[in-house]
Amino acid sequence: MTSGSIYESEYGDRPTYPHPVGQIDADVAIIGGGLTGISAALTLAEAGIKAVVLEAGAIGAGGSGRNGGHLCQGWPNDFDKVSRQLGEAEADIAWQAGIEAVDLVKQRIAQYSIKCDLTFGYLHAALHKRQMRGLDAMQAEWEARGYDHFTRLGDSSALSEHIGSDAYVGALHDTGCGHIQPLKYLHGLARAATLLGARIFEAAPVKKILRGPRKTLLIEGGASVNAPIVMLCGNAYLADVGLPEMRRRLAPVTSSILATRPLSDNMVKQILPTGAAVADENAALNYYRIDGRNRMIFGGRASYTNVDFGDVEPDLRRRMTDVFPLLENAETEQVWSGKIGITVNRIPHFGRTDDDVYFVQGFSGHGVALSGQSGTMMAKAVIGDASQFDVMSKLTHMPFPGGPLRTPALALGMAWFKLRDRLKL
Ligand SMILES: Cc1cc2nc3c(=O)[nH]c(=O)nc-3n(C[C@H](O)[C@H](O)[C@H](O)COP(=O)(O)OP(=O)(O)OC[C@H]3O[C@@H](n4cnc5c(N)ncnc54)[C@H](O)[C@@H]3O)c2cc1C
Repeated sequence: MTSGSIYESEYGDRPTYPHPVGQIDADVAIIGGGLTGISAALTLAEAGIKAVVLEAGAIGAGGSGRNGGHLCQGWPNDFDKVSRQLGEAEADIAWQAGIEAVDLVKQRIAQYSIKCDLTFGYLHAALHKRQMRGLDAMQAEWEARGYDHFTRLGDSSALSEHIGSDAYVGALHDTGCGHIQPLKYLHGLARAATLLGARIFEAAPVKKILRGPRKTLLIEGGASVNAPIVMLCGNAYLADVGLPEMRRRLAPVTSSILATRPLSDNMVKQILPTGAAVADENAALNYYRIDGRNRMIFGGRASYTNVDFGDVEPDLRRRMTDVFPLLENAETEQVWSGKIGITVNRIPHFGRTDDDVYFVQGFSGHGVALSGQSGTMMAKAVIGDASQFDVMSKLTHMPFPGGPLRTPALALGMAWFKLRDRLKL
């Protein structure tokens, strides 16, 4: 369950970064070497600010190096959940912040020549009529705000241009979303940040933060970093140093992914002829795509109880062959899992303390583009443009019920949604 992802396996020559030694001074100390932390470091470095990233394991050891690679626009829930808490002008700022996420990925890939198999095309797929009505409402809401990348696929002949499966009643085809090899993208950002002066350290778990105008971050093994500003970018993996208000508002959910061995061109043409990534609309969704080596990367099977159910491969294979019976004989190359951080309303939780500890968490399985955008928003707030960060920080986030027992309470809540999806209610 805790094995590395296929991205790690195929990227054996990825760069490594040193272990920290002695006392290090910085303007900003960033905890977490995922897309949030590295994107923040890059934005700070672009502005000439001295950033230090401290990563407990290797760059991309958390969700950023083990996700499905789906590059999704906007915030992870109906935008209505954001806008109803804000005035009109602030809602516009929040919308813009979400919608810039994929553009930022595109821009950074071009600016820093990052090779990461960027592909556009996405299907938001409906398994039954209620889900299609939800997608119609989403299309209306997004188009009213100027998003013009959707095409409605309302019948099987329209669907068949993009997907060879009988599982769906309809979909929205979205040319504004797509997919990437996430670990290569992350390392491209890390290389760019380093070239601009950021310092990145691996095997650097921060065990404690001594707070004050100038903070000291104590790292296992004896090294320390001094900085006036700290950014907590550990999301569902944040260990030892989370603020109490963060802990109560985040629940970890385990999601698992299966990669097949490379499929033939002919098979790919039959199942996903336009190369679009696909996610269905279930609460515990299936999400999948064909990667740069023709492998099916099929994710699903969320566990809200954090109990290790052992071998997840049979369930993932069943899910995959339910959608594509043609893949019955496709061999499995690798299976892995990772932790997704979710909030009650599924919108990321932003905040900062009076003594300049910044944080963002809870991308709710929608973080490949958004975590980079959020890290950048945090960095911009430090540089002097806090407009987007402050709007998102205003949103109220309810704590999960159940305190330390919040994961079982969440599991009970999710059981209802899973049942509803199974019964197609
Ligand atoms: C299986 C899976 C599939 C997913 N699929 C998708 C998808 O297809 N599309 C999508 O948009 N999103 C997806 N996501 C979500 C997405 O990957 C995350 O939202 C995103 O990667 C979060 O990035 P991050 O930088 O905030 O956190 P992470 O990438 O989790 O990085 C946090 C890092 O902080 C480090 N850390 C924690 N505590 C400390 C400490 N005390 N000291 C030092 N370092 C510390 C950890 O080691 C970790 O590397 C998926 C997630 C998973 C797990």
